[in-house]
Formats: sequence, C-alpha cells, structure tokens
Amino acid sequence: MDGSFDYIVVGAGSAGCVLANRLTASGKQRVLLIEAGGEDRNLWIHVPIGYAKLFSDARHNWLYNSEPEPELGGRSIIQPRGKVMGGSSSINGLLYIRGQAEDFDHWRQLGNAGWSFTDVLPYFRRAEDQERGEDELHGVGGPLAVRDVSEPHPLCEAFIEACAEAGIPRTDDFNGPTQEGAGYFQLTTRNGRRWSTARGYLAPARRRGNLAVVSNALTTRILFDGRRAVGVEYRKDGATHVARASGEVILSSGAFNSPQLLQLSGVGPADLLQQHGIKVIADMKGVGADLQDHYQARFNYRCSERITMNDMMGSMAGRVAAGLRYALLRKGFLTIGAGYAGAFARTDPKMATPDVQFHFILFSADAVGQKLHPWPGFLASICQLRPESRGFVRIKSADPAQGPAIQPRYMTAQADRDTMVAGMQLLRKVMRQGALKRYIVEELTPGPKVDSDAELLEFARQKGTTVFHPTSTCRMGSDVTAVVDERLRVRGFEGLRVADASIMPTVVSGNTNAACVMIGEKASDMILQDASATPAAKAA
Ligand SMILES: Cc1cc2nc3c(=O)[nH]c(=O)nc-3n(C[C@H](O)[C@H](O)[C@H](O)COP(=O)(O)OP(=O)(O)OC[C@H]3O[C@@H](n4cnc5c(N)ncnc54)[C@H](O)[C@@H]3O)c2cc1C
Repeated sequence: MDGSFDYIVVGAGSAGCVLANRLTASGKQRVLLIEAGGEDRNLWIHVPIGYAKLFSDARHNWLYNSEPEPELGGRSIIQPRGKVMGGSSSINGLLYIRGQAEDFDHWRQLGNAGWSFTDVLPYFRRAEDQERGEDELHGVGGPLAVRDVSEPHPLCEAFIEACAEAGIPRTDDFNGPTQEGAGYFQLTTRNGRRWSTARGYLAPARRRGNLAVVSNALTTRILFDGRRAVGVEYRKDGATHVARASGEVILSSGAFNSPQLLQLSGVGPADLLQQHGIKVIADMKGVGADLQDHYQARFNYRCSERITMNDMMGSMAGRVAAGLRYALLRKGFLTIGAGYAGAFARTDPKMATPDVQFHFILFSADAVGQKLHPWPGFLASICQLRPESRGFVRIKSADPAQGPAIQPRYMTAQADRDTMVAGMQLLRKVMRQGALKRYIVEELTPGPKVDSDAELLEFARQKGTTVFHPTSTCRMGSDVTAVVDERLRVRGFEGLRVADASIMPTVVSGNTNAACVMIGEKASDMILQDASATPAAKAA
C-alpha cells in the first residue's frame, strides 16, 4: 500500500480497532490504522490479573498524571492509558458494564439524534458475544467476548448477601433491564484470557489486504486543505511520514490524546494555541474542555480467613498453585479483573436510578497498583456515577511528544462531594451487615476514627483516586462549545470525525469500555452511510 487511503484511523484502542475492522469488512475501502504503541505480546496483557502490573509499565502505558487537583489538596492523580494494540482495552480491568439506558436517553435529550438507548442497543448487541446466550438486550457471535467469572467466591457471596440485607437486591446482570443491584461482574474474556478489541476486532481484520497497520507511530498533526482534513503526519523510527485520506480522518486516540491532536493541529481554544505558537485553523473552546471522570474512595478491610488474594499471592507456594489452577483449569485469582463482585445503588431511595457503584475486590493494598498487604484482606470502593465536575485537557507545548495538561477537577462540584459522602456511608452500612460480620476483623482504612461526614470527605480528598474513565473532551452536541455533531463530525470541518470516549456528552453510569466499543460500531455505520450518500458514490 502507498501513502494514500480512503480512511485513516488514529489510535488502535477500544474504538479504533472496531473502526479498523468494520471499515475494511467489505473489502472496498483502504484503511490505515496508526498506533503510537506496539504489539500486544506481553503475557501480562493476556492474563486478566496482569492488569495490575500494567499500571506502571511504560512500554504499554502513557503513564499520565493529572495536574495538582484543587479539591484534593493539590494532589496529582495517576492517569494510566493504554499505549499498545487494543489501547486501554489491553490494560483495563476487563469489567463489562454498559451504563444505564437513561444515560443514552439523556444524550438524546441533549439533542443528539440517534443516541437514545433504543438507538444504541443494536450496536451493543452487534458487538457482543454473550456467554449466556442471546435475548433482547444481549447478542451472541459478536467480536467482543463477555464471560461470567470462573467461579463464585465465599467473600463475594457474603458481600452480595450483605448488600441485600442493606436493601440492595441481588442481580445476575448489571446490563439487564435494570442496572440496580449487587452481584458478580461479567468480564471481557475468552477462555480465561483478556479479550481486548485488538483480539476481538483487529486480529481478524489484519488478514485483510485493504487494512494497513502502523505501530510505534506517533501521529503528530492532522493535515488540512482549507476546512477539509486530507491526511495526517506521523513519526516512526525518527522519521516523519505523511499519509493521505481521500475519505476521512478519524481520531480514536482517546479522551486525552484526541483533543491534544486537534489542538496541535490548530483546532482548539485560540488563546491556548497562540500561546504555543500554533496557527489557529478554528477557534474551538470546547476542544479539551468538559473532561469528566469517575472518582473513587477505597475502603480496606482485614479479613478473618485466609481466603483472599493477599494470602494466595503472598507465598511462592500460593503463587505456583494459582498459576497451575489458571494454566490447567482457567480458574482462580488469575482470571479476575478490576473487581469480582460489585453493586449499583441509590444513595437516596427517591432517585430514579443508581448514583453510586461499588467494586468489591479480593485483595487489599495501600493504593492502586501497590504491593498487597501481608495479611488476609480485601477492599471495596465507591464511586459516584454521574459527576458534575468538569475539567480539561490542554497542550503544554507544541511538541506532540509531550503529554498534555490533564485536570479532571475531581469533586469540585458540591453535588459530587455530597454523593461521595453518602456513598461512603452506604458502603459502611453494607459492610456492617450480618453476612459480612464473620469475615471482617477491622476496617483498616479509613478506619473507625473517620466517622463524621466531614471526616469521610477529607479521607476521600486525601486518598481517593480515579476509576480510569475520562470522557467528554471532544463532546458531542449542538451547543456552541460542542466539538462534534451527532454523526461525530468535527463541527465546521469536512472529512474529520472523532470516535472514542472523548465524544460522550456525559460519562456513562458505569465502566466505559463497552460504550467506547459501541461508539466505534455506530461510527463505522455512519461513516459508511455518509460515504454511500455522496453524489460520487451515487453516480458510481
Ligand atoms: C487501568 C484501567 C482500567 C480500566 N478498567 C476498566 C474496566 O474494568 N471496564 C471498563 O469498561 N473500562 C475500564 N477502563 C476504561 C476503558 O478501558 C476506556 O474508557 C476505553 O478503553 C477508552 O477507549 P478509547 O477508544 O476512548 O481510547 P483508548 O482505548 O485509550 O485508545 C486510544 C489509542 O490511541 C493511541 N494513541 C493516542 N494518541 C496517539 C497518537 N498521537 N498517534 C497514534 N496513536 C495514538 C493510544 O496509544 C491508544 O492505543 C479502564 C481504563 C484503564 C486505563
């Protein structure tokens, strides 16, 4: 293939791999997929528990950090992002959660035709290969494998039972008719191995002659002819290359890098671009604005029985046993992602739908990605599902190799602080129920001295962290600061779309990978429909 294509997709992440697959399926379109990271060969990408090892692995992770956060005492928060085939779907916690039907109906209500739950459900179903079979909400045979956890665990059973005692009913499907309830998560795995979009979508598409994939290539700029995107410039092995697109350039570089790339290319807030000596092509204040993310507080518990991952992983014999169990049966702790069980709950019964999510995790540690405690322990985290705080992504330099300034401005909205405190109170209520009593020796953090609402809030400020769900930095909408329209076209431009987490008008109420896959699916249909509607296509 030469340097000219119908479509160029920038970023082989959750959404980008979907696009690469769907746009090449007919064999008619020539597509170039450019990825800054390398191939997904590392063993720990494929063993689900390996996700804990990828937090700090610079070979597969952009390893961003937020700017000092105003409500968190100036703390910087880690912001891992996948830099590898599959993007963040290759380093994420594997939980399969779509969000609430009401999230998408809200997107539609904001003026985004085609994005109500009824509109997007066919794309969730088309993507899915649901282990439990097909029904009106779930699909089978799709590229994204969705599987149950390999076996129940007594602590998870106790947690689910305790939730029921506290008024949160048991559910066997967080993606069912209602999200509310407590139960086991489903995971994006197949045969106990991670099922990233690189595995599910990209690997089969790479056999097609009309898809070119360039890895370890940093896209540095979008090329324009007036207001039409005509290609991109990228760096690989120290050289600068140009690739041209006769159809479209599609940015799927994620919530941090898609706005960064637009800004570097002259599309963004004029004052910011001028500050860095970048020629302004379009003054768009919304590019990089409106960043949202889920923020969590984690409660650690000392357990009375040696049944946690701390115990298994704390000894060589335990590690060997876990390894063998995984190798022979595809069962046990190595098959677990970011959580085993969890719950979606309402902090106020007057609410229509859950406003907090609990992740119940069978290990304890001082912080995300740190060493497990040397005693039996587990943790539960609470996050607010619909934060009102909005932050930003802004270039710090005209050098594409330098990461952008990222500031989610966690808990800067009063409503977010209130919900966080109410969620922590609700989590404690669950943990005090009879079903969990025999397992809990003590709450290690925040611990009994942290009791009042003010103390809990202070704990969240000092110890809270991200759930890794940044979105909305190239927000879809019809208002003046919206970056893309409801067909994901960058407003005021031709041949340029964004399709990834950054287009979400508001973050979904849950983990974000499934929604990004859905966005990739829907975007591919819109791109192909729009291409076939052009006068040239009709004449042909
Ligand atoms: C540690 C972690 C745990 C998570 N856990 C879960 C979970 O359990 N469940 C869940 O649903 N969600 C989870 N998420 C969130 C979810 O994975 C992301 O929301 C989703 O993968 C984002 O998809 P995306 O397509 O927007 O971007 P990404 O998947 O991040 O893809 C962007 C791609 O673009 C590439 N790129 C960026 N800039 C350039 C450039 N200039 N040139 C070329 N390539 C570029 C990147 O390297 C990357 O491959 C987690 C995320 C992380 C980081």
